Amino acid sequence: MPPQPWSDENYISRLERKSARDGDCIVYTGCISKKGYGWMSFRGKPDSVHRIKWILHNGPVPNGFEICHKCDNRSCFRLDHLFIGTHKDNMDDRDRKGRVKHNYWPVSGKAKLTDDQAREIYLIKGMNNSQIGRMYGVGHNIVRQIRIGKRRQNALKNLLKFTENA
Ligand SMILES: [Zn+2]
Repeated sequence: MPPQPWSDENYISRLERKSARDGDCIVYTGCISKKGYGWMSFRGKPDSVHRIKWILHNGPVPNGFEICHKCDNRSCFRLDHLFIGTHKDNMDDRDRKGRVKHNYWPVSGKAKLTDDQAREIYLIKGMNNSQIGRMYGVGHNIVRQIRIGKRRQNALKNLLKFTENA
């Protein structure tokens, strides 16, 4: 019998075996690239570990988007330390972080969402509105409206187009 391709469960358990705590972060203890990203073979080709983690939970990354770190810890693959953004968002984010350290963990129920966060909320699967709301510090109604494309339409513009064309 030819070797069977790995299932998502195989990848998930490999990531668990190869993880360590680093402060709040969960870092990869396997192969690390020169730039500091965790690397492993995924569905037949090498990919960065934080991207793999995001894909395993949320599905394919839409064209033109990247999986970025809120924590700036490149080998970290803790899901809630990752966000989806465009390449430009990623660069802007790096610029901003160069000057100010961000507080990404709003605790009030009235946090102002960034465009990145609105897009991320729109793309999250497998969590309900209240869980997402707690993660971002906003009410579940706001989350619901973003997910159905009724709120933050400017931030979602490209994604809504992507979904329509898919
Ligand atoms: Zn992290």
